Amino acid sequence: MRVLLIEDDADLAQALTAALAPRGFAVDLARTGDEAEAYLKDGDYAAILLDLGLPDEDGLALLHRMRGRGDTRPVLILTARGTIDARIRGLNEGADDYLVKPFDVDELHARLLAVLRRQGGYLGRSLTCGRLTFDLEIRVAHVEGKTIALSVRETELLELLLRRAGNVVPKRIAEDHLFGLGGELGSNAVEVYVHRLRKKLDDASSGARIETVRGVGYIIVPKP
Ligand code: CA
Repeated sequence: MRVLLIEDDADLAQALTAALAPRGFAVDLARTGDEAEAYLKDGDYAAILLDLGLPDEDGLALLHRMRGRGDTRPVLILTARGTIDARIRGLNEGADDYLVKPFDVDELHARLLAVLRRQGGYLGRSLTCGRLTFDLEIRVAHVEGKTIALSVRETELLELLLRRAGNVVPKRIAEDHLFGLGGELGSNAVEVYVHRLRKKLDDASSGARIETVRGVGYIIVPKP
């Protein structure tokens, strides 16, 4: 499977290319938005890995153009911009997922596989677990048409878990995702949100359950 890596950091590009090869991914490298456009025009890519800080333009502008011309190939953003605001902007521009640097290659690989599994257009998509549906376009969770009222962070957490449904989301990843990098937070901050979200999913009879994997993180699974 071929992916296009759009990244101007030569060391990172080399490391990713080397790490993805044994996992079955051939990587083409574009170092600028301009180069990327040339590759996108002719290349048959299963997914695009997109750095936002490119020398000639903001990666989001490139993503915006892609989606604007109806290019629905999956895009995974790789960036140092870890704030929730930056993530939401990326996802709003039609990114399929978002990884904050530095990240583990295993995490990238898992997200890449998840993105490929969900292939089929970025608009109007939804994620499901049990009777729970999460509408990615309007970022609302519902059970058989009935909306579950969630706070911004509960929504972020639910989306993160659903994007990796059936896989454990490490607690550190959840922390980074909810609070950004370098944010001050209590050691149980994520647990508090998990607890609230779990209760809301139960109260709504969603048929989806968040399990705690001790010492590792959290996983959302359909109730048997
Ligand atoms: Ca860069």
